[in-house]
Amino acid sequence: MEESGRAELDTPPFAKSAKGRAPGFGALLELGTITGLKGIRLAKQEREFGGIRRVDLAYAQLASSEIARDMNRDIVLELIRANQPVSRADLSRLSGLQRSTVSEIVEDLMREGWVREGAIAKRPRGRRPTMLGLNDELVILVADVHPRQAIVAVVDLNGHFLSREAVTIVSDPKRAVENIIRSMRQMRASHPGKSFEGVGISLPGRVDPATQRLIFAPNLNWSSFDIRGTVEKAMGLKVELDNAANAWLLSEMWFGKMDGVRNAVLVTISEGVGTGVIANGQPVTGKNGMAGEFGHMVLDPAGPLCACGARGCWETFASSQAALRIYEGRKKGKGVASIAELHALAEEGDKDAVATLTEQAKNIGRGLRMVTAALSPEVIFIAGDITIVWGLVGPIIEAEMKASMLAGTPPRLVPSQEGGLARLKGASALVLQRHSGKVREGDVPAKGVKKRVKK
Ligand SMILES: [Zn+2]
Repeated sequence: MEESGRAELDTPPFAKSAKGRAPGFGALLELGTITGLKGIRLAKQEREFGGIRRVDLAYAQLASSEIARDMNRDIVLELIRANQPVSRADLSRLSGLQRSTVSEIVEDLMREGWVREGAIAKRPRGRRPTMLGLNDELVILVADVHPRQAIVAVVDLNGHFLSREAVTIVSDPKRAVENIIRSMRQMRASHPGKSFEGVGISLPGRVDPATQRLIFAPNLNWSSFDIRGTVEKAMGLKVELDNAANAWLLSEMWFGKMDGVRNAVLVTISEGVGTGVIANGQPVTGKNGMAGEFGHMVLDPAGPLCACGARGCWETFASSQAALRIYEGRKKGKGVASIAELHALAEEGDKDAVATLTEQAKNIGRGLRMVTAALSPEVIFIAGDITIVWGLVGPIIEAEMKASMLAGTPPRLVPSQEGGLARLKGASALVLQRHSGKVREGDVPAKGVKKRVKK
């Protein structure tokens, strides 16, 4: 009998080739694993992420009839992802599914190339089961786009980076996307042994979930350009787009240790203020993907002019730009050029810089009142520039948020500091989740896109 969910291994299973991988990233990007699953009656509910889904391990109920097979498949894939290396017997125990059902699903997943067998587990006696894990030969091309620069990378199913490079983003979207495509083509050529599953792109703006067009990006004027169509045509791969905050939140939920969390918000505080929202286990997109724009809710109608055209949006009080303006006001017009400079001054004990960041932190906390009042999340991730000075601002933001709670316990406030890596991994999760849902529902590949050859 297997008493433990994890077995010792003769050799490390699925040992990754270090070739081509940026040094130092591996350790950062090890997947979180789900622990404490033992004894939990596993369940079969799924989270929908804009038509793509992820199994919600903590809140599942038995699936019924027709969709049961698909859901069971998602559960098994999710359990492998979270518990790898894992045996079929462990999967059966963790899922509550019969051994024969698990074996059938595993065969399917292996044939499709998502899962592969690794080492034989070392056990004191009895059968030595073959362990299963995600197939890291399957990789995804990702891009994290900013107004002046994009990071292009290759990520495998386990969230490991194989290549990463910065490309210049110019104001003309056509030329900017050409740069991204050129980089992606080079990366694909430099990993000839890998199977490329798709492209995920994180953008600094709102993406319409139906049309996948960028519809609201005050810092990037690309609204009429068909990013998805252009990249799909050039690469021959399906492309998924989402805004940076959603991608980041997805990364926390998918690669982090957030199983069981059903209500989470990620707030990015950098040049602007962005949010990604998951409510009741579902991503909230609203009409045209515009839901959750807390950064543009007005705190003071007489406040500073915002990039969106309104006055006194939360963003104009809480963003890095706001901090620079507050500091300049304190210094009677003698400000600093960058938020990094302001942070450095505060670290050195500059009184005005500390007072500025204190004011910014209070403004962030005040805005979180809107977030908690609207969504009552279990966790709020704070991301972006502000996390660099978390030691200074974290306690102020938390105190301000707690003081403004209507009732109940305040959400957990968690700084999310992986930044660009998180957005890149989130972009890969967009592609992974699409596969686990939509594709099996008869999704037609985009024009010019070859259907992936099943192994
Ligand atoms: Zn605004």
